[in-house]
This record gives sequence, C-alpha cells and structure tokens, in this order.
Amino acid sequence: MSSSLPISFFFFKYNKKGYHANPRRVTSPVKNLEGNAKVAALMDPDLKRWNQELIQATFEEREAQLILETPISTMTTRDRIIWHGTKDGSFSVKSAYHLVKDREMANHGQASTSNGLKEVWKKIWKLDVTPGDKTFLWRACQEALPTQSNLFKKKVVSDPLCPICNREEESVQHVLWSCEAAKDVWSQCSKKLQKCSISSFSMITFFETLTEALNQEELQEFVITARRIWWRRNSFIFKKGFTHPNHIVREARATLNMMAEKNPDQCNTQASPTVIATLRQKEKLYPDPLLAESYGALQAVKLAREIGLHQVILEGDSLQVTKALVEDREALSSSSMFCSEARHFLKLFEKWEVTHVRRNGNHIAYLLAKNALSITDQIVTMEDTPSCIANFI
Ligand SMILES: [Zn+2]
Repeated sequence: MSSSLPISFFFFKYNKKGYHANPRRVTSPVKNLEGNAKVAALMDPDLKRWNQELIQATFEEREAQLILETPISTMTTRDRIIWHGTKDGSFSVKSAYHLVKDREMANHGQASTSNGLKEVWKKIWKLDVTPGDKTFLWRACQEALPTQSNLFKKKVVSDPLCPICNREEESVQHVLWSCEAAKDVWSQCSKKLQKCSISSFSMITFFETLTEALNQEELQEFVITARRIWWRRNSFIFKKGFTHPNHIVREARATLNMMAEKNPDQCNTQASPTVIATLRQKEKLYPDPLLAESYGALQAVKLAREIGLHQVILEGDSLQVTKALVEDREALSSSSMFCSEARHFLKLFEKWEVTHVRRNGNHIAYLLAKNALSITDQIVTMEDTPSCIANFI
C-alpha cells in the first residue's frame, strides 16, 4: 500500500475467514478527512504505525480492522508499486490470469496490536549485575512483584496495606523505596541515592527518573540493594525475622565490590541461564499468511537487538522467509518488506546467521508459538523459562 495514494485506493481481499477471496475497494464513506486525503494521513509518522483512533472513527468496523491489520514498514522507505498476484511480488502472466479470474468470480456475486518499557529494558540490560538482579528489576518495573497491593488487586489477599509499616498500600515502589523501613536502608547508601527524593506510585516512572539522576554504578547499587530489601520483606512475611538495615547495606557493598573485581563479560556469560528471553505474541496480519513467518523473524531480531545480544543465529521453518532474510533483494511483497527490515537489523550484529530448519527442528519455538495462540497480546520473559517449555529446557 502506497502512503501517497488517495485513501479510496485501499483494496481489500477477504472472505468470511478474513483472507484470500475477492478484492473490492474501500466502501466506507471517508469522513473526518479531506476528500483528497492520502493514505499517509492515516499513519502516525513518528511512531510509524496506523492512527488507530482515526481509522476506527473513519471507516466501518470491518474495513478499519483490515487496515489496522495491514503491516507498515518501520523504516523510512519510498513508496513503490508491488504486485500482489504472486508471493514474492514479481509479475507473471499466470498470476495475472488468476487475478482476472478472481475478479470475474467477484463480479458474479461471490463476495468475498510499550515503548517506555522497551527503553527501560535496554537500560536494565546494560547494567553490570547478575541476570537474577536484572530479572528482579525488570519484574519490579512491570509491577510484577507479588506485593500486598498487587495480590489485593488479584483478590488473593483482603488487605493492600504494607505489612511492615501498616500505613500505606504496599506497591512495588513503596516496598522498595518509600516505606520507612526501606528509607532506613537507603539513608546509608551512596550520597546520590540518599539524596534522591522521587515519589511516584508507578515503579517504571520511578526507575526512569532514577536513571536520569544516577550513573551506572549507582544504578547497580540501587538494584542490588533493592533486591535485598525485597528479600528482607519476604523473610518478614514468612516470620523469619527482620534484617537490620546495616546488614543489608554491608551485603550489597560486598556484592558490588565482588562484581567490580570480575571481568564484566565473564560475569554475564558464566551466570547466564539457557533461556535468555522469550517473546510470544498473537497478531492478526493481513493479507498474506506468510506474513506471520516474516513478522516473527523481524520481532525475534528486534528482541535480540533490544536485549543487547552481539551474535545471533536465526532459525526458521519457512524456506521462502529464511531465503528472503539473506538475499539482498528489493522488497516486493508485505512479507519481503518485513524480511528486508529484519535484514537491516541483522546487519547491525557483530555476527549473524540464518538457518532453515524443519518444523520439528526447533521444538521450543514450536511450543512457544502454540502457546501464543492462548494469549491475548504479547508476553516477553527475561531469564525466566515459561512453563510451556520448562520441561524441554
Ligand atoms: Zn511500608
């Protein structure tokens, strides 16, 4: 789809199941927009995605859904005309014949989904701390620690109050930072941490503010200390006593000193578990089923970049997609558009490789994909093995 074409040039090909039937032009009256508005008017140029609100307000429901399911390249590429009659976008007389036949049949009545989180993630990944510390901080930023407040929201406990001070709701930010018991620890840490006076109910906003105020070493001190404050809180809950603040500060310092003596690379590789990260996503893509394969490859490459990997081997069971990923060919279809975007990111790695495997050649990927069918949006795990693959690791 060319962004400089008038909106009325949208063509849809769908049947009752949503794919591959007969094409027809957009029929919704194009309201909210000027008569000569171009497709680009429906896109957010900064975020490089569809303007969902505008599309839903402009088109009838079914057409709005199909537009939103049509992929847009996140790279700045010029518009070009592509042939939808073949999978790779190259023109052939045979495909044109089939297209004409399809149209004829149509004429005979056979009608036919945190960018903020990603930034935080990158910052966490760069910290020179153990994978366990990173996972802890990541979970904290996602408000995924089982605090009283979170358990109360899930109706597991009847009281959201902090079990230590009994004064405020025990949010992640409260237990790790603003609770009087936590303040007793922070008051003995390095000067900048002592002076930080951030108050935010959401842990992600809190951590973002912290990253602006602290340097790398101080952030490492923060995560190592915060994790020990969390352990102390858990010991208290399970009636195993309450560790003195001095003890936590001493332990955190000892850990920091120990890590400073180690070679950072050695520290990361030796402690790394088998599973570094997983991403499961359920996505409707229009119009080509092959899109799922190429979209998956692009998401995998982006994830590897975001978590700071330097070398990557990509395995896929679609020969067409694995070939398209390594061949420097112009993108002539929606699927090859994703492949060319993925190839752009792959070239940024120190070393990369794309391998074709049989479907049962990567059983873990198969299980993750199968599990993704039961989720609603996207689940990303870091150094945590999802239960659907736990028995196979
Ligand atoms: Zn408290």
